[in-house]
Amino acid sequence: MAGIWVYAEHRDGNIRKVTFEILGEAKKLAEKKGEELCAVLIGAEVEGMASKLGAYGAQKVYCVEADCLLGYTTGGFTKALCDLVQQHKPSILLFGATTNGKDLSARVAGRLGVGLATDCTGIALDDAGSLQVRRPMFAGKVYAEVAFSEATPQMASIRPNVLAAMTPDETRKPEVIKVTPDVKPEDIRIEVTDVIRTGGEKPDLTEAEIIVSGGRGMKGPENFQILEELADVLGGVVGASRAAVDAGWRPQSDQVGQSGKVVTPNLYIACGISGAIQHLAGMGTSKVIVAINKDPEAPIFKKADYGVVDDLFKVVPSLAEECKKLKSE
Ligand SMILES: Cc1cc2nc3c(=O)[nH]c(=O)nc-3n(C[C@H](O)[C@H](O)[C@H](O)COP(=O)(O)OP(=O)(O)OC[C@H]3O[C@@H](n4cnc5c(N)ncnc54)[C@H](O)[C@@H]3O)c2cc1C
Repeated sequence: MAGIWVYAEHRDGNIRKVTFEILGEAKKLAEKKGEELCAVLIGAEVEGMASKLGAYGAQKVYCVEADCLLGYTTGGFTKALCDLVQQHKPSILLFGATTNGKDLSARVAGRLGVGLATDCTGIALDDAGSLQVRRPMFAGKVYAEVAFSEATPQMASIRPNVLAAMTPDETRKPEVIKVTPDVKPEDIRIEVTDVIRTGGEKPDLTEAEIIVSGGRGMKGPENFQILEELADVLGGVVGASRAAVDAGWRPQSDQVGQSGKVVTPNLYIACGISGAIQHLAGMGTSKVIVAINKDPEAPIFKKADYGVVDDLFKVVPSLAEECKKLKSE
């Protein structure tokens, strides 16, 4: 067996944070199992990112490079990764449960004919050294402990922001293995014609450490300005409930929940959001939840660590003001 592998997702020449988080936990598993921890980078020119993966724990980095892999495509990346897996036969293969990670892991598992546990919030080894994962089910109402059959690789995708990355050590140099994949034009059956970015320089909701979200209680799109101000002071980003998105007040990319994004920030501030089960499904694993709602019976208070029963139009601006004062002190 050739070790525990982590698919190293990257964007604009930077490794995505979730990859470092997975490496941190996977390192412990690799040590326990007595196997190597490897990362797989796929793209056109990716070797420059390999040392960073080493700093975060990868002992070996496979750099799979080809011009046709410049942008992510399901077909191209699946072919490149499956060929490598079939050649080296890792025991465990882990992905971030991001948009690309979810897409790629599902296709790779299908191609390899093995199982896949998706959107996990914990990974461990059982007594026999087999992967065991924890994943929320039924919109976060229950957690399942998932065991794997003996088929390898045992595959899972891990939710961003739930595992802790280790402190990087730049002196740790990984072994870099360059791979020329056998990907042909016919393996890539879709063509990406355009990438439309939202959110500018701000982090993606799924990677944000602080999210200030607004719901129907915001009453209109213009009022989200007060959430933007609070988010700016806190260094966070703005999210929304589906009611706010369906009303056209926020773009769909801001939606948190079962049919939106699943987020796990350190702090989630829900403003004028009732806390429907479909919303909780997207933010219920946030580390600290603050709810601001004028209805004391709103279900969000059952999930919140801190609750403010009051008019958000009073509370949010004063909260932003206080935070500004604290920051300037
Ligand atoms: C299949 C399916 C998928 C879904 N997916 C999602 C999803 O991904 N994400 C999602 O969010 N929802 C989703 N929903 C919708 C979900 O069921 C709820 O309808 C939605 O979350 C409600 O949004 P809300 O809390 O903003 O609005 P509401 O439920 O209307 O709540 C508004 C809240 O604002 C409070 N409020 C009003 N004015 C003020 C004020 N001035 N100050 C303080 N509080 C105030 C009210 O007390 C109320 O609690 C889905 C539904 C279905 C059926």
